[in-house]
Amino acid sequence: MNYKDYKIARDRAWKCLIETKVNSLPINLKDVFSYYNINLKAFINSSDEAFIKNNIVYFNKSYNIKRVRFTLAHELGHILLKHENLTHTVHTYNNTEEYQANIFARGLLMPAIVLKELNCIEAQDIADICIVSLQAAEYRSQRLKELIQRDKFYTSPLEQQVYNNFKSFVNSF
Ligand SMILES: [Zn+2]
Repeated sequence: MNYKDYKIARDRAWKCLIETKVNSLPINLKDVFSYYNINLKAFINSSDEAFIKNNIVYFNKSYNIKRVRFTLAHELGHILLKHENLTHTVHTYNNTEEYQANIFARGLLMPAIVLKELNCIEAQDIADICIVSLQAAEYRSQRLKELIQRDKFYTSPLEQQVYNNFKSFVNSF
């Protein structure tokens, strides 16, 4: 996957955080989805995890809440990134759209700049505060450590804006 694909998804997550005006962790996905007028509908009795139909995101509620949250953020990524194949139910294909939806979900649920300013770097802490699986948090934690080592923060005005929105949350934490 190339950097351009990564950057598009990362920037879209920042814009999503900014335009929905969410300003605390864990990200309230109900608020985020209602901002975009996208309905959520739970189902069970199927092995499918989630799919999108007529601007409704259907999700399998028999999965763990942490996993469901990441899946919902992933689906929102498909929608906001205007991906073509929205109706698929399997999300493990190794293609650009799946990759971008995961980058988007990670950026939305675990904004790096907020975690860094909270000094919340370890996977378990990230999982607890963001309500994501330990596996998802581990991936974020690794990337966060890289970013800290390279001091790669605030290079985008979008990231600066995200932090401004979360500032009082960070200060009160
Ligand atoms: Zn997908």
